[in-house]
Amino acid sequence: MRKRYLMTPGPTPVPAEVLLSMAEPIIHHRTPEFSSILMRTIEDLKYVFETKGDVLIFACSGTGAMESAVVNCFSPGDKVVVARNGKFGDRNFQLAKTYGLEVVDLKYEWTSTVNPDDIAAALRNDPDIKGVFVTQSETSSGVLNDVKAVGEIVRDYPNAILIVDSITGIGAVDCKTDEWSLDVVMTGSQKGLMLPPGLAAVSVSQKAWGHVEKSKLPKFYFDWTKAKKSLGKETTPFTPPVSLIIGLGKALSLIREEGLDNVIRRHSVLAEATRAGVVAMGLELFAPPEGRGNAVTPVWVPEGIDGGKIPRIMSDKYGVTIAGGQDEYKGRIFRLGHLGYFDRFDIITTLAALEMTLDELGYPVELGIGVAAALAVFEENPI
Ligand SMILES: *Cc1c(COP(=O)(O)O)cnc(C)c1O
Repeated sequence: MRKRYLMTPGPTPVPAEVLLSMAEPIIHHRTPEFSSILMRTIEDLKYVFETKGDVLIFACSGTGAMESAVVNCFSPGDKVVVARNGKFGDRNFQLAKTYGLEVVDLKYEWTSTVNPDDIAAALRNDPDIKGVFVTQSETSSGVLNDVKAVGEIVRDYPNAILIVDSITGIGAVDCKTDEWSLDVVMTGSQKGLMLPPGLAAVSVSQKAWGHVEKSKLPKFYFDWTKAKKSLGKETTPFTPPVSLIIGLGKALSLIREEGLDNVIRRHSVLAEATRAGVVAMGLELFAPPEGRGNAVTPVWVPEGIDGGKIPRIMSDKYGVTIAGGQDEYKGRIFRLGHLGYFDRFDIITTLAALEMTLDELGYPVELGIGVAAALAVFEENPI
């Protein structure tokens, strides 16, 4: 018998009570019963997004929400800033290009944070800029970008909105949508929300609705105006993923029970313990100290070790699935996820499997050294 452990930053593990809630017989979506679940779930999403504005949901992965932001907020030829320092920032760039937007490209190394001063300079230099795209938690690199600082800049430009991919930020780090003036924020179900893949949520500020009114890009399924209008009637424009929304209701009730601040604190302690564990093994962290998120810990593959083998042995031999590097960092880094339904002993399990794997690959590691370092963090920071 081998137990399986899903230790990636998406999809993430799903609590048993959430899985069970989704196993109930399907109810029809045009019923008062479903409407009440839907509206309660939207309210709970507002709690997690820290907004009093609109939150819309769509049956799609996170990328669908990203695409919806482009087609709902802009018109062909609109000028936008895309600040990117990883694979998901690159996706914003590709989406903007796909829809014929003119992109002011702020491209950084994957090991750097986005510099808000560059965004301020771009906006100052060009009054035509209508939007700024930033990834809060870059899952490909573990880098956390300071979207609060960017919000303070963009809020002074009445013609520009700030669009934040917080797909692995929400539920893991602070993402204060209203307080930080984040106009559009999005997340996906298979990340911090502790659900299977298939659902995405997006918040829309009043300023962003102003853009939506002027937008000329074509849209149908992802039409925010239609979604908002339907929510006004306590329903959705098309058949919603009924089971996922019921599961989301359950997952959000777990988050409410724990309290959002405690959820974020738990993630911060798990991330700290993971970092302490890998550093104790003599490994090097990928993300810079000034910008490390709580969702995932990317680690450099040590010199002389075949990077592809680390996730493979961990999964095949120990049942622990972690993520490899993406794009140019494939085989050069590996990524340990700790997002959503994770507690202390998930970190201990991952670190123990990593030690055994490195040992097998001939990397000199004293078994238990990373585990001990993580335990020390947990002793100091009860969660
Ligand atoms: C997962 C993720 C996405 C969306 O990816 P999908 O596979 O479409 O769900 C976008 N941005 C970030 C930062 C992510 O982690």
